[in-house]
Amino acid sequence: MSLHAVKGKNSSEFIDIYASTDSDAKLPKYKMPDDSSDPRIIYSVVRDELLLDGNSRQNLATFCTTWVEDEVKQLMTDSVDKNMIDKDEYPQTAEIESRCVHIIADLWNSPQAQETIGCSTTGSSEAAMLGGLAMKWRWRKNREKQGKETGKPNLVTGPVQVCWEKFARYFDVELRQIPLEGDALGMQPSDLRKYCDENTIGVVATLGVTFTGIYEPVAELAKELDAIQRDTGLDIPLHVDGASGGFIAPFIQPELVWDFRIERVKSINSSGHKYGLSPLGVGWVVWRSKEDLPEELVFNVDYLGGNMPTFALNFSRPGGQIIAQYYNFLRLGRAGYTKIQQACADTAQWLADELNKLGIFDLVYDGRGALPAVAYKLKPGVTQFNLYDLSDRIRTRGWLIASYPLPADREKTVVQRIMIRHGVSRDLAALLLDDIKRAIDHFRQNPVVNSTAKATFHHG
Ligand SMILES: *Cc1c(COP(=O)(O)O)cnc(C)c1O
Repeated sequence: MSLHAVKGKNSSEFIDIYASTDSDAKLPKYKMPDDSSDPRIIYSVVRDELLLDGNSRQNLATFCTTWVEDEVKQLMTDSVDKNMIDKDEYPQTAEIESRCVHIIADLWNSPQAQETIGCSTTGSSEAAMLGGLAMKWRWRKNREKQGKETGKPNLVTGPVQVCWEKFARYFDVELRQIPLEGDALGMQPSDLRKYCDENTIGVVATLGVTFTGIYEPVAELAKELDAIQRDTGLDIPLHVDGASGGFIAPFIQPELVWDFRIERVKSINSSGHKYGLSPLGVGWVVWRSKEDLPEELVFNVDYLGGNMPTFALNFSRPGGQIIAQYYNFLRLGRAGYTKIQQACADTAQWLADELNKLGIFDLVYDGRGALPAVAYKLKPGVTQFNLYDLSDRIRTRGWLIASYPLPADREKTVVQRIMIRHGVSRDLAALLLDDIKRAIDHFRQNPVVNSTAKATFHHG
């Protein structure tokens, strides 16, 4: 039967949603139904279907926020109708966005945090596109100013997140992703000379490499670019992809110099919805100074009333995540962020040590000095199972843990990575560890003969 309007039906039918006549039907899946249905029933049906999704709190493959305070949920509900782009109609939301940019610029030691320029985005991906576009425009203008020809622009990076591959393809830039050599997990300063030339629009250093959680050495990379400028005259800007590290390093590695304290760092992006602790849907990009963001990229839109400059790939966009970001800044302060991130780091390090003791894994990243994460590979002699089998097995208990090969040229090394985020307590990590031990015991008694498990996780 079909789901249809309940008009005129006896309302006693709703003594129980699951016993109503409308709920004994299957939902139409790929065509809109002809008739309307009762919202209570449809709500239940849709909500119940979502039970089949993984449990986000047990998703240790993601970097993104999966736990928020009730006040954040309330603010999200309060602002469900706020369109971020209507800056004239919602001037306080616009003001709050601007305050967040200043707070973040200050956090990243912008030399002129009060004059800084930056904006919110839907996430680090959009932020990376904007950062990349600014570099491309600046490079072209410089070449033209010098009366030089512009060849095909290129961007030099280490093992980057897929957003930079997208940027390169969508905006017609050659991506020069430097392969990993030996035991390296990121780009090395000594690599740069070979890959940079007069058409290099910039170098992207990643603070919190997706594959392992390590930081690329921003200060050393900047120094090498200084040397390249001395030797060749090429002045190549550095962009830091701090999608995760941008909200970790300022709090728990304050001595690490990676941000605007380095003259060559011209722009930085981060995900508010990762360690910024905001709900999904917000990122940030900040430029060192107005000169680093070519004005041609900024649009002044007057048909919204007022004349607000915007730089974005989107137009309409929800404002709640930005408001929640501001709430978090005020609510937690530096002390709160520091405590939360340190607790995550401590748990990651504890878990790394415990996993190490099992004698079956080699740690690739032990949770020390960079993101609150652990990455490890199987010791060479282990043959009863592979890491994909382990991911599969542990999933029967609801845990989602990513296994995948390292990027080129280390594709032969398969690693597993566990992200520790706000809401992953020590106790929860201990329960996970027990399940990992049980899975290993299981494989010892039942070795996998013909493994069909494969990489299915996406990085994020
Ligand atoms: C997650 C991530 C991105 C993409 O960020 P989104 O906010 O998911 O768009 C880019 N770079 C790095 C290093 C990341 O970890």
